[in-house]
Amino acid sequence: MQTWDRDGFSIFKQEIYDSFRDCTTIGTNHFGSRDILNGRIDGTSGEYGITLSFLYFEKSGASLLDIAPGTREEERQGRELRECLEKIPDVKGIYLIPPDYFCSTEIILAALNGVAEIPVFGIKTSLLPEYRNFGFSAGGSLKGSRLFALIFHGEKLHIRIRYNLGWTPVGKIMTVTKEENPFFVDEIDGKPASDVYNRYLGLRNDQIIPENLSEFPLIIKRGDMEISRIGIAGPKDGQLLFGAPVYPGDKIRLSYGNPDDLLYEVIEDCIEIADFKPQAGLLIACSNRIMLLKEREREEIDYYRKFMCACAVVYGYAEIYYLNGQGGELNSALVSVAFREEDAENSSPCDTLRYFEGNEQKDSAIVPFSDRMSRFFKEMSNDLLTSAKEAEAANKAKSAFYSTVSHEIRTPLNSILGMNEMIRRESHEKEILDYAETISNSGKMLLALINDILDAEKIAAGKMQIVPVSYDIRKTIKELTDMVSVSAGSKGLVLKLEKDDDLPSVLIGDETRLRQCTLNLLNNAIKYTEKGTVYFKAGTEPVDNDHVKLTISVRDTGIGIKPEDIEKLSMPFERVDQSRNRNIEGTGLGLNIVKNLLELMGSSLEIKSTYGEGSEFSFSIIQELGRSSESSDSRNDNTAAGDGTGPFTAPDASVLIVDDTPSNIKIMSLLLKNSLINIDGAANGKTAILLCEKKKYDLIFIDHMMPEMDGIETLRKIRSDPENINAGSVFVMLTANDEAGMKEMYIKEGFDDYMSKPINVTELDLILRKYLSK
Ligand code: ADP
Repeated sequence: MQTWDRDGFSIFKQEIYDSFRDCTTIGTNHFGSRDILNGRIDGTSGEYGITLSFLYFEKSGASLLDIAPGTREEERQGRELRECLEKIPDVKGIYLIPPDYFCSTEIILAALNGVAEIPVFGIKTSLLPEYRNFGFSAGGSLKGSRLFALIFHGEKLHIRIRYNLGWTPVGKIMTVTKEENPFFVDEIDGKPASDVYNRYLGLRNDQIIPENLSEFPLIIKRGDMEISRIGIAGPKDGQLLFGAPVYPGDKIRLSYGNPDDLLYEVIEDCIEIADFKPQAGLLIACSNRIMLLKEREREEIDYYRKFMCACAVVYGYAEIYYLNGQGGELNSALVSVAFREEDAENSSPCDTLRYFEGNEQKDSAIVPFSDRMSRFFKEMSNDLLTSAKEAEAANKAKSAFYSTVSHEIRTPLNSILGMNEMIRRESHEKEILDYAETISNSGKMLLALINDILDAEKIAAGKMQIVPVSYDIRKTIKELTDMVSVSAGSKGLVLKLEKDDDLPSVLIGDETRLRQCTLNLLNNAIKYTEKGTVYFKAGTEPVDNDHVKLTISVRDTGIGIKPEDIEKLSMPFERVDQSRNRNIEGTGLGLNIVKNLLELMGSSLEIKSTYGEGSEFSFSIIQELGRSSESSDSRNDNTAAGDGTGPFTAPDASVLIVDDTPSNIKIMSLLLKNSLINIDGAANGKTAILLCEKKKYDLIFIDHMMPEMDGIETLRKIRSDPENINAGSVFVMLTANDEAGMKEMYIKEGFDDYMSKPINVTELDLILRKYLSK
């Protein structure tokens, strides 16, 4: 290694050219390891390390390709490189030097994908513009600042590459959310990118320099590879400048490393290299390793030299490793390249020394503090990780249990509410009707609670889906007002609706979830207000030709919320001011569900409140404008249509009910009693098919989850059998599976309609009228 002043670089290049005209040569500029060790990596030291490495081949060749550079022209460069490669026989490896630091080498590499399983390795030249790369082929002219590719080829040539890192990712997974370009990242997890280092390493922005980061590079998982990235303080406040590309959506974690871990990976590599029987080697190592390994830096090179003599070394900022479509630009890594010009059995590798031979173990009673610290850190992180995994598994089991139990409660609840409905229909005693009213109200509350638990679990499991349909917003608002006006009235509260006169008629969005959020806010306002008024406001503002911003606000003159309690409100199960609202029923799940649903719909819940005076909950969501001719979703028509005109009867109609729970068939039969319809029941799919072969039904209700043959399969069998007289009958899915999007799914499967359990009598009435009215 030699040191040169700045001007020396061009003199040096010329001297190399003059001295080695018969060789193929490429070179890149990088600050020397000595500067880095001295903490001078800003290019101000005026001293640059030069490493000269020679690789001699007896039976193989090395051809130099050079391609014109160009900002954002990596695709063209990749294409040209690929075209050149196709003309060279027996290509076994490529040594790539991109023209400058901000070249997106990964785009060039992507162009090579699938050419052949050719290993690509290389290094990027440094940031300083006056020290770009250079190269010349034997007898050719000296060139600089181009994309250089040294192509190794030869029938007998074998090249093996491996990528070594040695750092271990720890802690939270974060996401890159905003960037100027792949080298300048503005935000991680929606916060200024520098927060990562401010928070975890206690660094001020001006302290985000490589010397403070070498032990803790960021790690990104790409395919099967964990690759490292180092971001130093960028030109804008809060921005990080990366030495290799990072993309929006990249998942990153901090990592830690210590010399022993780095060297351990290297030793593993060396042992594998011995089996390859190399005749020469090239090591491409990141400067960050030198910063971490310090005086032990020589150890890793020495290990390789023991297994692979004639081993050249290149240091850089972004190492290139690419094999079988995986890899790209790396940081903190060491890429080892081993060459052999023979088949392994004929190879007489240079004197391979066994690593342990003559390697004196330095054993001292006192272990350096940093080694103990990193060991402690590693073991503690592993313990925490294990407990986090255990907690996650327990949480998953708990969620699954809640979902199953909630689902199972629906079946007996269906019986309770169904039978109760019969009491309400058939009893004329006032006292009994009062009891039935209480059962009905409690049943509805229980059902709402189960739905909340199921929703909360679905949100927690990331399974909640937003299903847009076209709906009439004016109808939705009217129905919501009707729904809560009774409870507001019974408390002596005034319910005031203030809606824009020019609300569009048809919107497209998830009406079910919009209704759920608004209803929750209205119910809360009534629940937590003793006297006064609940204001329900709805309005829209145009966004563009196709969209409007719908704003819903619910304001009350109730108990209000203390400022310190407001942020606790969206936590699940959190109920605030317990001393005041001890007697008010609730679970503390509602607002959390509202907040999450709004988030899924791209909105958020705004809360304003004055303790003792009242609160206002509001949100705005973007909805697509539907065409007025577009009929709104049929399920909404159902709810909107309300009660039919007088009791419905169809004495000539035949209906089949297929359900494996006998009480469900019984309840349906009872609920249909007054309609005088002829009813048959089937306890499973097989019986249903047999009945359907013999008798024509006007309407068939089928449960989904049944043992042996489920509802969907039963339907398929009947529909696909042209001989079956019911192949074209009306089928309605009747299920406790009440998730959003289910109706669409069942209709896609061939059902004509869908009804959820527990049975809503108004809905049942509508279905009967829809399909049985002649
Ligand atoms: P629940 O009403 O079932 O307890 P929520 O999640 O709907 O659960 O609300 C959480 C808490 O927020 C309530 O327990 C109550 O303390 C407070 N809260 C919600 N809405 C209001 C309101 N309009 N006025 C005052 N406090 C409210």
